[in-house]
Amino acid sequence: MLGRMMQFPLTLTHLLTRAASLFSDTEIVAVRPDKSLHRTTYGATVKRAARLANLLTRLGVKPGDRVATLCWNHEAHLEAYLGVPAMGAVIHTLNLRLHPSEIAYIARHAEDTVIIVDRSLLGLFEKFRAEVPSIRHVLVVPDAGPAPEGTLDLEVELAKERDDFDYPALDENQAAMICYTSGTTGNPKGVVYSHRSTVLHAMAACMADALGVSETDTILPVVPMFHAAAWGVPYAGFLCGAKLVMPGPHLDPASLVSLMASERVTLAAGVPTIWIGILALLDKDPKAHDLSAIRSMVIGGSAAPPALITGFAERHGLHVTHAWGMTETNPLGTLARLRRGMTSLSPAAQLEKRASQGYAVPFVETRHTDETGKVLPRDGATMGELEVRGPWVAASYFGGEGLDRFTADGWFKTGDVVTLDADGYVKITDRSKDVIKSGGEWISSVALENALMSHPSVLEAAVFAGRHEKWDERPIAAIVLREGKTATDDELTAHLATQVAKYWLPDAYVTVAQIPRTSTGKFLKSKLREQYGELLLSKK
Ligand code: ADP
Repeated sequence: MLGRMMQFPLTLTHLLTRAASLFSDTEIVAVRPDKSLHRTTYGATVKRAARLANLLTRLGVKPGDRVATLCWNHEAHLEAYLGVPAMGAVIHTLNLRLHPSEIAYIARHAEDTVIIVDRSLLGLFEKFRAEVPSIRHVLVVPDAGPAPEGTLDLEVELAKERDDFDYPALDENQAAMICYTSGTTGNPKGVVYSHRSTVLHAMAACMADALGVSETDTILPVVPMFHAAAWGVPYAGFLCGAKLVMPGPHLDPASLVSLMASERVTLAAGVPTIWIGILALLDKDPKAHDLSAIRSMVIGGSAAPPALITGFAERHGLHVTHAWGMTETNPLGTLARLRRGMTSLSPAAQLEKRASQGYAVPFVETRHTDETGKVLPRDGATMGELEVRGPWVAASYFGGEGLDRFTADGWFKTGDVVTLDADGYVKITDRSKDVIKSGGEWISSVALENALMSHPSVLEAAVFAGRHEKWDERPIAAIVLREGKTATDDELTAHLATQVAKYWLPDAYVTVAQIPRTSTGKFLKSKLREQYGELLLSKK
């Protein structure tokens, strides 16, 4: 017997109609390159999304066509997030931190037809424009002055259009957005989110045990909209009618803290680097900013060091929510909340759970396997590759690449090396390409980094494999010291010795001014291996 309920498609169009009918006065604030604030509303955004849909139609964009964005987080980007998928086209968010030749590769691969680009990023676009012949029109967001001749000024063009659009009835499985992985191994791969996956993901993100987004929130997505749909945070906010605060290009700690204070932000999301900088700033002058409105800061993208979580809580009364995800998972997969009864655990045991990557959100399933594909026990100790499945997990890549990441029985291989415990908590010990194999034993670089970052003199630490004559590989730690602080190798080793097994202790330390990073703010360990990987061979 079949159910007798309506087939109502899960499309992003509903976010527009809902916002227009319920939240038209809700505020959206965006920071301009000159640091001035632009204030608008959901109502105006819905109308401008319709103007954009009319404009793109005028420019010949057809259902399924890719419309690229090369933009910071601001209201015009949000209009594209909504208007492009709702008209049946596919928004393709280009990562402006990549090398121009990589952006060109990605834009060519996706066959982008129109690009929406910030005036302030036009110089970057010009560097690769000639390499992407599929781009027929360039729409310039006049964030830093009017569009130059030969391009179309988005404001001028939108003003010519009607502020309503006859949105087509879409199949919920139609593509809404395409995001590329950073391609640290091999070429970047395209992940194609559907309307359905994006809507379900947004609803899951709003759940109280996930990000708990509600209409009363004021959300600051620090995570760029060109990185995995800004973790779905803008869609979750729009779905609930939360106020949105878009930081534009100003992602330095001082600008962010002042924005959080002045706009009374309740929920902010970003990678650990951002929060490490913010914590250092707050530590310097704890009373300078009133962050009392904050209810949680979501940290993900790479491991949140436990010292960061406790530093915010103990010194500033601020709560961190640690989450894990990937471009391939739309991106939220797991989230580290304490489960029922866990608040009676010792503070150290609670921190252990909260600093792990957490347990899967509803409809995401997790398991870990060995090299032969055998599913491993959930004992909190056995390391294996994390695999996930669910309605917002990629089933394949655009163009059919990377088939080896999908198992025959329907799981996606994440490339993350993890343990899983009996409570379902995932703990990442490494990405498989960064694993350190010493005499056949695996050493967790993440555990070493977390332990090092709990030393009072260490601001950041990245641990990577150095080649070794006897053991093949041994850990080397790259350290960034806090301003005015020092630490000798022996002091660091003594600090680590209380927390990790003896054979895990690094064979060498290198002090660096900055740890090299990927375009999405993760430690670029391949660069460290290139620079210092031979260090132990010469040392002997
Ligand atoms: P990229 O391949 O560009 O880094 P993603 O942003 O999709 O692309 O990165 C996903 C990866 O980021 C995960 O596979 C994992 O290694 C890492 N990651 C994400 N969140 C966390 C976290 N909370 N802790 C540790 N690693 C994380």
